[in-house]
Amino acid sequence: MDDSRRRLPAVDDVLTHPLLASQVTRLGRGFVKSWVRDVLDTLRDCPPPVPLSAAELAATVHQGLPTAPVSMRPVINATGVIIHTNLGRAPLSAAAREAMVVAGGATDVELDLHSGKRGPRGQATIKALEEAVGLDVAAHVVNNGAGGIMLACFALASGGNVVISRGEMVEIGDGFRIPELMTATGVELREVGTTNRTHLRDYEHAVDDATGFIIKVHPSNFQVEGFTSGVSIGQLANSFSVPIVADIGSGLLRPHPRLPQEPDARSVLRQGADLVVASGDKLLGGPQAGVLIGQESLITRLRRHPLARAVRVDKFTLAALEATVLGPPTPVAQALQTPVEDLRERAERIASAVGGALGVQASVGAVGGGGAPGVELESVALVLPADLAHPLRTGTPAVMGRVSGGDLLIDLLAVAPDQDEHLIEAVRTVLDGHP
Ligand SMILES: *Cc1c(COP(=O)(O)O)cnc(C)c1O
Repeated sequence: MDDSRRRLPAVDDVLTHPLLASQVTRLGRGFVKSWVRDVLDTLRDCPPPVPLSAAELAATVHQGLPTAPVSMRPVINATGVIIHTNLGRAPLSAAAREAMVVAGGATDVELDLHSGKRGPRGQATIKALEEAVGLDVAAHVVNNGAGGIMLACFALASGGNVVISRGEMVEIGDGFRIPELMTATGVELREVGTTNRTHLRDYEHAVDDATGFIIKVHPSNFQVEGFTSGVSIGQLANSFSVPIVADIGSGLLRPHPRLPQEPDARSVLRQGADLVVASGDKLLGGPQAGVLIGQESLITRLRRHPLARAVRVDKFTLAALEATVLGPPTPVAQALQTPVEDLRERAERIASAVGGALGVQASVGAVGGGGAPGVELESVALVLPADLAHPLRTGTPAVMGRVSGGDLLIDLLAVAPDQDEHLIEAVRTVLDGHP
């Protein structure tokens, strides 16, 4: 190793430098220390010369420290994928973030301030969901969609079976599969039909006295085309007295005009589903949560099951979900309704502000793992040299674009307009350092 790098100061010499005193107070000693260690580790891998004095290093550390003691870094989503799983799915609205700040202190989440006694937890959030769907239904919220399916299996089918079409045996992502999740609860899974075709008679052969429910799983991340057929929720509801549970995945509460093929809770319940399970952080545009909406008697069984406590949501989720349902349009909703002309205008303004861009071009975005597979959304992207992808990802703020055909596309579909200035700054910074 180069000599100069071996002579880097010790972590504690940088940490105790007066320049960092206020940062240690603000962010905590443990956090600043880990940051100093990371900076020193990076410098050991850098070509010489490297800054050597504790003062110079303290200044470098000071400059890079984030606003909160958390190593998760904000990323501008320029991928063109609105709900990007690796970027944490739906970004919250400013209103929902504000709601989470309120929830951070002591709150009346489980207290009735009038009587001074214990109150029902999360009631306003539940009511917001029930009213948004607008039918005579009840709601319950759990940790995530998978938690909702798990709770339904335990509370409605324990010791019995659940019937599912082979065309709906979905892998959600990261190797997790809905059928495996269900069998892990101990229920017997009765697969019916084939990958491409399932008929009513297939269900008729499988449903018996031990059937807890029939589940319909929405293929939210793939499409089967060609010689296919399935049995609709309405047909199942008309043919069987067991509950029909619909895992709709995306979490739309009502139909979305731009996504006519995407199921929503209201329509699916009206078609005859008894219980709908959905995620909070996909098209609903809220925090990670599992939203269960349906017949009051079923929801009561879910709420009273002992495992309901194990998948209970925290006050942050309750707060953010209420703000998502009742508050201003979410970033996801806004991205879905932005006219492409607006995106083009913004892209051209950004291109001229940064200089050095290779141009602006039409692009095709997607809803993402959260739903609407195969739906192509018209978008516009700024074109940059592909070798800027890495510096942009590791810059501040980090920008995640999409490399395509040898170019780096900075797609504006999922970029909120109030992020444009940050995007310009980030691109300018890397272009300045670009030969
Ligand atoms: C996303 C998804 C799930 C899982 O929901 P999580 O909130 O990620 O646990 C289940 N079913 C379908 C159809 C999905 O799209």
